[in-house]
Amino acid sequence: MDNFSAAPDVDAVVIGAGFSGLYATKRLRDIGLAVRAFDAADGVGGVWTWNRYPGARTDSLHETYCFTFDKDLVNEWSYTEIHPGQAEVLEYLNLIADRFDLRRHYTLTTTVTSAVFDEATGLWNFLTDKGESLTAKYFVTGLGLVSAPILPNVPGLEEFEGEVYHTSRWPETPVEFDGKRVAVIGTGSSGVQFVSTVVDQARELTVFQRTPNWVAPTGNRPVTAQEIEEIRANHDEVCRLVRNHPAGWPWEMVDRKCVETPAEVREAMFEEAWEEGGFALLYKTFSDLSTDKAANDIVCAWMAKKIASIVEDPEIAKKLTPTHPYGAKRPPAADGYYQAFNKSHVRLVDIKEEPITGFTKKGIRTSQGEFEVDVIVMATGFDAITGAFTRMDIRGVGGKELNDHWSEGPLTYLGLGVAGFPNMFMVAGPQSPFANLPPGAQEQGNWIADLIVHMRENGIEFVQPTEQAEIEWTKHLTEVAESLMTRYGLEANSWFAGANIEGKPRAFNVYFGGHAAHTDLCAAEAAEGYPHFEKVAKVAELA
Ligand code: NAP
Repeated sequence: MDNFSAAPDVDAVVIGAGFSGLYATKRLRDIGLAVRAFDAADGVGGVWTWNRYPGARTDSLHETYCFTFDKDLVNEWSYTEIHPGQAEVLEYLNLIADRFDLRRHYTLTTTVTSAVFDEATGLWNFLTDKGESLTAKYFVTGLGLVSAPILPNVPGLEEFEGEVYHTSRWPETPVEFDGKRVAVIGTGSSGVQFVSTVVDQARELTVFQRTPNWVAPTGNRPVTAQEIEEIRANHDEVCRLVRNHPAGWPWEMVDRKCVETPAEVREAMFEEAWEEGGFALLYKTFSDLSTDKAANDIVCAWMAKKIASIVEDPEIAKKLTPTHPYGAKRPPAADGYYQAFNKSHVRLVDIKEEPITGFTKKGIRTSQGEFEVDVIVMATGFDAITGAFTRMDIRGVGGKELNDHWSEGPLTYLGLGVAGFPNMFMVAGPQSPFANLPPGAQEQGNWIADLIVHMRENGIEFVQPTEQAEIEWTKHLTEVAESLMTRYGLEANSWFAGANIEGKPRAFNVYFGGHAAHTDLCAAEAAEGYPHFEKVAKVAELA
């Protein structure tokens, strides 16, 4: 069987125009490949084109929520806030597309519906929802972690006569809330940001909560000119810190244990970190909060007291207080979230006590009555990590369906490749680290480009991870997740573990060993000549 009996239309197809897809497109183009890239949105920006809801902002830090490969760009661009808002991140990604001439590769408003590997030609065949078909040798995904939204599985939504929005499909034209009765379903990162932002606009705000979250303040504020100058002057150090931090944060790891620290000292440290906001409480206080349940119980008890000190009604405070460990599910950040529940026009509905049974013409029906509202905001999250893959038809060698391969949860090697799916590479895919995204997107984009260069220089036409490598990676990833507070993710409905969706396989979808460990493993894999990959010259030689 000849390889490439038909010339491919392009060398590589990239899906996605967020951080991952844009950078992969750039790198593949820079190593000389002809690249076509697609995105379902009508502009570049990935998740930031869709998640335009009021209050949407990253809780990563401004100096790290960007690429670092171009020093000139680092010296020219800066965000204006510590935690950049949606519009500014979108502006940054548009700048990336323009500055590096990436738009010409992209076909927007176009969904790739299938990607099928053809053994006769050794090429990937793609179909789009616009009826285009094309072939490529390499297939690279930058599909995003949170791109496949979900809705509550209860009847009657079509009967509701008011407005309905999902936070991740927010219209470009502003939505007015003034004087309206607004319902929000969901209290994850999107829900708490939304609630904190619209609370003073809505006439009534009813929050439907399934699982409460530990919501830290953000600590957001404008970035000062002096800070920008310092970051630019010390940029190599910022990169070093990010490279070595498990979450890709520009912080040194602390080396002190909560359980060994006197109560008054640790409480002062918690208070300081709480004021700093975001992930400071988790990463800047103690090293054992994620590993030792006793330490985690201490920080949770402290936060529970904090919630009780903010929320005036003790019953409501109790309902807002999680029972899961801090970090068992992705902790959100928002300013004024708990304070919102002190306002007389804000109600909390605990849907574990009072389940939503359906939607009506006028609002939301629960087991105990009907809530009449003008607007329903679904902040109900995503079929995270794997959803964007399993909604596509992806088939590898022998017609093997990715959906079948992942029927019990994702199986990959390093989150970068899948056995039986040759020359398919994923950036920020399932089983890659859960960390600040841009540094990982840059590392992984570089790694994929380097592997393709290695293939070209060594007469290798096809690569795929071995099945054994996948099994070992999944075992390691599971052991790491089981050793951390993430092991409580199932009870906490965490999307980390597929537990936010009924019927989804329960498996850890992300790697919690950290950005630094993953980057080291990827570097070692490359340095050793990709020992966990099959590397062959002909399709027929693939195992
Ligand atoms: P999410 O964290 O999955 O939260 C969804 C919320 O909806 C949860 O409270 C969930 O309850 C609830 N829910 C889901 N299905 C429901 C149903 N049928 N009935 C009632 N409630 C339901 O989704 P998200 O808030 O959109 O955030 C997803 C991820 O995107 C975040 O974890 C984060 O990684 C990223 N994100 C980041 C930022 C940021 O950086 N600041 C902002 C937004 C999003 P359960 O908890 O019980 O499942």
